Parts: sequence; structure tokens; C-alpha cells
Amino acid sequence: MCGIVGYIGNKKAEPILINGLYKLEYRGYDSAGIATIEKDAIKNIKNKGRVSDLEKTDGIENLEGTIGIAHTRWATHGKPSSINSHPHLDNSKHFAVVHNGIIENYADLKAFLEKQNYTFLSDTDTEIIPNLIHYNFVQDKKDDNFKFLRAVKNACYMLKGSYAIEVISDYFKDEMIVVRKDSPLVIGKGINENYISSDIPAILSYTKDFYLLNDNEFAKLTRENIEFFDENLVKLEKAPINISWNPLAAEKDGYEDFMLKEIYEQPRAIRETIWAHLPEISKCQMDELNFSKEYLEGLEKIYLVACGTAMHACLVAKNMLENICEIPAEVDVASEFRYRNPLINSKTLCIFVSQSGETADTIAALKLSKSKGAKTVAISNVSGSSITREADYTIYTHAGPEIAVASTKAYTSQIALLAVLTIYFAEILERNPVQVSNLKEELYCLPEKITDTLKCSNRVKSFAQKVYKEKDIFFLGRGVDYAASLEGSLKLKEISYIHSEAYASGELKHGPIALIEDGVTVVSVITTPSLVGKSISNIQEVITRGAKTFIITNQDLEGHTFDEVISIPKTSSYVSPILSIIPLQLFAYYISKEKGLDVDKPRNLAKSVTVE
Ligand code: GLU
Repeated sequence: MCGIVGYIGNKKAEPILINGLYKLEYRGYDSAGIATIEKDAIKNIKNKGRVSDLEKTDGIENLEGTIGIAHTRWATHGKPSSINSHPHLDNSKHFAVVHNGIIENYADLKAFLEKQNYTFLSDTDTEIIPNLIHYNFVQDKKDDNFKFLRAVKNACYMLKGSYAIEVISDYFKDEMIVVRKDSPLVIGKGINENYISSDIPAILSYTKDFYLLNDNEFAKLTRENIEFFDENLVKLEKAPINISWNPLAAEKDGYEDFMLKEIYEQPRAIRETIWAHLPEISKCQMDELNFSKEYLEGLEKIYLVACGTAMHACLVAKNMLENICEIPAEVDVASEFRYRNPLINSKTLCIFVSQSGETADTIAALKLSKSKGAKTVAISNVSGSSITREADYTIYTHAGPEIAVASTKAYTSQIALLAVLTIYFAEILERNPVQVSNLKEELYCLPEKITDTLKCSNRVKSFAQKVYKEKDIFFLGRGVDYAASLEGSLKLKEISYIHSEAYASGELKHGPIALIEDGVTVVSVITTPSLVGKSISNIQEVITRGAKTFIITNQDLEGHTFDEVISIPKTSSYVSPILSIIPLQLFAYYISKEKGLDVDKPRNLAKSVTVE
């Protein structure tokens, strides 16, 4: 899940590569490295630790090369160490490679190469790649303009697994070869210079024109030119796409952390996501989709498939789709879905949600659904991401770049977009017009209500300061509040490292109540009017056993005593997690700050999970 970046041009590559690595650090940050082609050889500098450690490493300032590749790692094979860091060189030291992904047959290939007298320094799967390139290079007796490209292609032919790879060689001082399969890679086009990156924002300050590679496609870059090839090295024509994101959107903009900035960006993110499809109170427009009434009426099931936070957004949508559209909806974790032989046919619609659009399990689940005859819709925040290229249809959230590893504005934007999609389906189906019109009105009010909700920040901070040393924190909720609790608990785990569990309140007595003892903090979300009484009873049960209570509610709970109550505006129950999650995002944020942790880059995590 690492980040890779590359540059070929007339400027010194090192500062451009380091700048790109900083922007990609959210993808992995256990080690980093850079290789450039210098006058007489490839120079490779790498280190355990973060990009800031790499930047301070001796010799970095002496790199003058104008072609280079760089990597920030999230180790899969071989612990984080200087030797396991990328770039990796072949034995002859003429080929340098950075790689994002996993080579599944690396052990066999290593044994094969060892028989050919190649030796290995690291424990990574990656180190076989430069050696395979060298092996194929020396086997190839033809000498033409494509010799370097052919060596990379022949090496890739032997690989099983996922990879985005950049290769440079001091035999070819004016060339760079890149290829991708199941791992992201974009190419930024400049004037007499070209850029490579794992994502668009990392190089957005240099160019707005991007080429997207599909799986098994190669690109041969020179300073002036980019040529594309398919897996058999047949030439391809590609048109660049123009990205309209403002590069400043990927900066902190005065906030202490990206996560805090992104929490505060939610009014705008939701407004833009809703307005893209519901420009005024009239029929919902989704020109990207093309579903007839007959098709929707014939649907037997909608699957909502995703991982992590996006899966929690799907849990919120299940209710809306079932109640408003009257279509059975099931939520599945992508990594389970893809291996459990789900019942899918042409009467199944499968919706896949991924902020980055690069989540490996979600993409695999999508491919499976397509192969079984279902129509597929991707929901992503990143134009042209892999999932959008695989799906039959794509609709975008308009959250803008999300950099913090813990997702905030993408989650609420996903719920908003799923609500718009529900409206779109219900309008075609002509079902439940009153509910549809109420939901629409509520969606329009949400940006303002999020702004109001954000005013709770200081109170949430004070409560976080009281409980940040705790070992376990529990979350309770019923219905849609349970879905919000799951997400609140995930945020807390991700960035504070406090053990946390979320339970459906009704499950309390079936086990978890045994864990409640004097002083334990229980967070509860109460926004569903019909469930208030039941939820209060469950909270009384934990209070009786000594719990401290932190309540997020839009209901009148007068007459009850809790340790802290955060009041949020009322809204439709279908989308209430868009508001109730905000105090929970802030809660996780302030606990993490209080503990002195790196909020934006929590340990062991990376933002886009591009490996299985
Ligand atoms: N498998 C490679 C390694 O462990 C790359 C890891 C990644 O893409 O995150 O070094």
C-alpha cells in the first residue's frame, strides 16, 4: 500500500520526488527511499523511518539527476528496515525499481533466480523484480529502442500478484518504464517533463493533465514523450484527462492536521456532493446512470459492498434503500463477499463504495459481480480510479482530496450520495413520494446543520481530556445509530489506539454488559425518535454498573443524568449519521491529540488498502 513517485525532465528530480513522497506518505510510512540516475551510475538512498528522515539522510543533497524514482513503504514482505526499503537494485546495479503491491510467486521466482546465481540482500518480494528485469535483459539478443521496455515486460510476464512498478536504468539515461496491474499508478504530463505517482493529488501542483494506465499496460517515458503499450507491447493511443481539483485542496490550509481540516470541510463536501445531482428541488438527475423503471422493478436485491468506513456508510444506506425504494438491500464486507460465492444474477444490482477507488478487495468483488451478470455501480471520490474503470456506471462524491488516513468527509459524502441515489431510484420507481420529498428537503439543510454541529467542538474536547487515558471505550446505538456507533468506534481505534467496541444496544445483555465496570466510558448515539425509550433503558443499565456516559442526541432527554450530552440538530433518521458522527470524529481526534499521537498517520495503517 505504499506510495510511488517518479520524475523525468530537466529539473533536479530529488526535491520533486521528496515533495511527492510527503503527499503520498498517507499510503505508508515505515521507510522511504529515492534513486536517481547520476552522471556515472544509479544513486540509491533509502532509510527506515519517514520521509522527513530520508530528507535528512547524508548524500540526498548531492543528488543532481533529472530522472528518478521514489517510494514510501507500508511493508508487506520483510520488516521495515533500511535494507528492505525501496528502491531495490538488481545484482549488476544497472536497474532500480520501486514497487507497490505484492508478488505472490516471489518465493518460486527467487529460487529460480538463485539457480541463475543471483543473490538477494532483502527479505522483500520486490527485490526479485529488478533481478528478473536484468535476467530478461541479458537473455534478449535484439538491440533496438524497445530493449528496456521488453525486459520489463518479459519480467512482468513471470510475475503473479499486484504491482505498480517504476523502473530506471543507467543503460538508458533518458527513459523510464512503468507498468501497473491491480495497484494504482497515474502519469502526469508536463512540458518536456513527465511525472508518475500513485495518486493524482501528489503531483497536482505540477500538472493537471493525467494519463491513466489500465491493468497490464506499460508506458515508456522520455522527457518529451509518453508511449503506451498493451501487455503484448502493441502500441496504444490514450487521451489525457484534465483534473480540476485545486492543488491547495491537498494542503493543510492553517489547520494543525489534515483530519481536523477535513472534519471542518464537511459542510462543503456534502453541499457539493448533493448539488451535483439535486441542483434544485426537482427530479434527481444522475446522467451517469441509465436505469429503466422495468430494470429497477425487476431487481431482487441490491448488494452494497465496501471495506472499513465505506462499509459503515453502506450500513446507513441499507435502511433508505429498503424503506424508500422497497428493494431488499444487503451490506457485505468486500473481503468476505469475494470469497463466499454470493447469489448474484442479472436481477442483482451491486454497488461498490471506495473513497480512493483503489481498494483491492472491493475491486475484486466488483469483478466477481460483473462476471456473474450483475450490473455494477462504483461510488468513488477519485476521478478515473481503478474501480471507476471496472464498473458499468460510476457516481462521484465531491469531497475533494482526503489525505488523513482516518476517513471523515468521505464517509459523510458517501452517505449523502447514497441518499441521492435512493431518491433517484425511488423517483424512477414512483415509490414513496412523500418520503422522497422529505428526504430531499433534509439533504438541502444538511450543510448548515453540519456547521451547527461543529460548534460542539470545545465540549467534545473537554470530555476527551477527561477520558483519554482509558483502555476501553464502548459505543452503543440502535438502528441507524448503531451504524454511526460502529463508525465512531472505528475512528477511535484507528487514531487513539484505545480498544473500542460498538454494539447494537439490544445486544448489551447478551454478553458485552459483563465488560462494564466502574468508570468505563460508554458512548451512545440516540437520534431515532421511536427508539429513544429503549436506548435510554440500555444506558441506565450501564450507569447502574458504574459507567461514565457520553451521549450524542437530537432528542429531548430531560430528566436523565449523563456525564456529557452533545446536542445535535434534528434531521431525517435516514441520514442522521451525517450529523451524529461529527462529535464522534472530534472525540477520536481530541483523544489522539491529548495522547500526543500522529493523528493523520496512525501506526500500521495506510489510507488506500491496495493489497488484499
Ligand atoms: N511488497 C512490497 C514490500 O513489502 C511493497 C509493499 C507495498 O506495496 O505496500 O516492500
